[in-house]
This record gives sequence, C-alpha cells and structure tokens, in this order.
Amino acid sequence: MNLLTKLKVSEIFYSLQGEGARIGTPTIFIRLQGCKAKHACFKAGIKCDTEFESGKEYTIEQILSWLELNAPQCKEITWTGGEPTDQLTDEMVQIFKDKGFFQAIETSGLNPVPVGIDFICVSPKVAEHVIAKNFPKGVHELRYVRHKGQDIPKPSIRADHYWISPHSDGFDINSENLKHCINLCIENGIWKLSLQNHKLWNIL
Ligand code: SF4
Repeated sequence: MNLLTKLKVSEIFYSLQGEGARIGTPTIFIRLQGCKAKHACFKAGIKCDTEFESGKEYTIEQILSWLELNAPQCKEITWTGGEPTDQLTDEMVQIFKDKGFFQAIETSGLNPVPVGIDFICVSPKVAEHVIAKNFPKGVHELRYVRHKGQDIPKPSIRADHYWISPHSDGFDINSENLKHCINLCIENGIWKLSLQNHKLWNIL
C-alpha cells in the first residue's frame, strides 16, 4: 500500500454531520463510488436516494492534498457511500490515522469495517445474520430507516445508540412516515428518532 493507491470516489465535501449521535459535527465526507448491496436493496424495495454511480479515481495522495487545501481546520473524516467497505482497507485507514484524522464510517453492514475506524454507524440494508457475523462486538450506532406500517427493528447486535429514521421522499420529509417513527419511539422507549437534518438545514 502506498500513497498512489487509488480509490473510486463519488465526491468529497466538507460539511456538518446531519444525523445520529454525531449530529452537528464538522466532518469531511468522502463518498466512495459503488455499492455491491444495491441489487439486494432493489429487490427489497429500498429506494436508494444517494448518487454514487458517477465520480473519478483519486490516489490517497490526491485525497490528502484535497483535505489540506479545502479543510485544513478539520481532522475528522466520514467515509460514506455507496458502500465504503467495498473499497476501504486497513492500510488506507492507517494512513489517515497516521495523519491524525478521526475516522467515522457509514455502512450498510455488508462487510466488516477496516481496523482503525473510530466510529461505526450501521444503517442495515442486509440480513441480520450478516450484520451479526460482521459486527460481533457491536457498533456505536444503528440507524434503521422505517416507513409507515413497519415494525420496530429487531437488531442482532448491540449499539451505543439506536435510531429510527423516517423514509423520506427524496429531499422531503414524508409526514406519515415521520409520525409512524415518532410513535414507534414513544411506544418502545429505547429507540430514538433521527432525522436527516442536513436536508432541513439545506446543506449537503
Ligand atoms: S446499501 Fe445503501 S448505498 Fe447501497 S444501494 Fe442500498 S441504500 Fe443505497
């Protein structure tokens, strides 16, 4: 592994985390291209509202240069996708760790995450037995998307935070899904409501 190793990247941008336990945190999002779970999502009727097909290749060196040029004040990265674990390796994470970056990841649970990741958010899009196999020690947060009529999630692993997020209509909140998720949280007493606040704030 060297600095000329390439990653397929959809976009890199500096913004605030809009969801979950790290809400409001300034972070550099590195959205990796592609997602091997997309056929499973399609079959399950999950509408993916993330654009991760386009993009270009960056070497690790080019990503480090982007960070230095565009957000030198920020030492936090959020790896997202698509499915970041399809490409990200232990060695890549170590390079950013050596440069002093805190690294969070947002994953569907399809694969284990690389060693060295500091904060793991799983938004499950694969079967629970796959998640149980990949995360035997649990994760920092679980975020399940729910629409009207769906039951409270029954996760197979433990987490520090359990979130339910209403399925949105693209950039808009679906009020029926929101009401349903609020009721689920109140009835259950453990799960918390997570909205995609970056959409409300009108930021990326
Ligand atoms: S796992 Fe996530 S990124 Fe991949 S297709 Fe499903 S919703 Fe989209």
